[in-house]
Amino acid sequence: MAGLSGLRSIMEDVAASTADTSAEEWLNLSIGNPAAIPAAGAMWREALTRALEEDFDAVCGRYGPSRGSAGLIEAVSAYFHHAYGWDLGPENVVVGPGSQMVCFAAAALFCGPEPDGAHRRLVLPMVPDYTGYQGLCMHEDGIVGVAPQIVEDGEHGFRYALDLDALARLDGIGMLLISTPGNPTGRAMDRAELDGLITFAEARDIPLVIDHAYGAPFPRIGEVPVEPVRHPHVVNCFSASKAGMPGERVGFAIGDPRYVGAIAAFLSNSVLHAAQLPQAALATTLREGTLDEVTRDAITPYYRGKRELMDALLMEQLPPDIAWRSHSGAGGMFAWVWIDHAWFDDVELYRRLKEKRVFVVPGRHFFVDATTTALPRGHATRCFRMSLSAPEKTLIDGVSRVAETLEEMRAEA
Ligand code: PLP
Repeated sequence: MAGLSGLRSIMEDVAASTADTSAEEWLNLSIGNPAAIPAAGAMWREALTRALEEDFDAVCGRYGPSRGSAGLIEAVSAYFHHAYGWDLGPENVVVGPGSQMVCFAAAALFCGPEPDGAHRRLVLPMVPDYTGYQGLCMHEDGIVGVAPQIVEDGEHGFRYALDLDALARLDGIGMLLISTPGNPTGRAMDRAELDGLITFAEARDIPLVIDHAYGAPFPRIGEVPVEPVRHPHVVNCFSASKAGMPGERVGFAIGDPRYVGAIAAFLSNSVLHAAQLPQAALATTLREGTLDEVTRDAITPYYRGKRELMDALLMEQLPPDIAWRSHSGAGGMFAWVWIDHAWFDDVELYRRLKEKRVFVVPGRHFFVDATTTALPRGHATRCFRMSLSAPEKTLIDGVSRVAETLEEMRAEA
């Protein structure tokens, strides 16, 4: 926990670029912040203000239930009943201070050493996946990532595919965790992949935690071919962060009481409960349908436009004779670029760009070490991530400096 993980390195870059007041601006393409979309900002501001003005004593002046405030749990149950026909009771829902903490609690509960000395590991069924998962385990070698199959697509595209056979060869699993659409690639699971993971989780009697931070029903950043499903072995995690309220820390999970009840108990012991002001605001936006409207009219179209811009910039600016590919066909909040040359190294690119006041994220942080070797052609150190949530000008200038830096690296090879 005290080591420098990929996530901590990104958070340090955020701190460095915001604390530096010198004249030349940083071009921060590493950030996981959602974009400042006016309609989303206005919705959260209004909902938070109403909670402060109308319910201050109940919301801020008292402790609340560890499972989450009654108002939010009711709003979540009604919302998912309306959206998907799910019948949820309070025993199926738990609210936490962000989905990161909910996932941390799940990993602490369902993974780790067993009384008989066996180790139950946290398994990421397909890497690359969210770098923040790698800090979820407090045991050495407690996390395993399954390498994907790589499918090349045209001259500059590629995509990953889940390798269910490789997953089936693993044992000692405590929990499966996957983001969909994923960070960093924006790739979403299809029905067959989801069914495959559920069948596997059921056969092993382990929870499959599905992180919908970018997915359906909100904020729907990217294409989502499969809506969330309910199953006794699935814990679905949702967050208000990428819909525009990351600073207020609220997320929730829906699942079977045996998993969700344990997470509520963990939160009780660790943080008591999530802050109640954002819980009240989230309840309002779910109840009144504003989150659905803003998702449909503002958030999804915004990122679709930024994706199109990024695709155009890559085609225009990256040197045509460099073998580059970007993960295609999925949308999402990031561009994930693969430079398939032996002279390329993701950390070296990061270091050189930092000298030019640009931040990107080296790709290796999204793989788990042990899987690095399972991938062909040094793949895990030949990718990097750029955020689409940065302003247009930052993307335009940032990609141009990336292109320039690639030219330099190639010339010096
Ligand atoms: N899950 C994924 C896939 C993410 O990319 C992030 C943040 O970048 C989180 C979870 C963290 O979400 P929260 O702010 O709800 O803790």
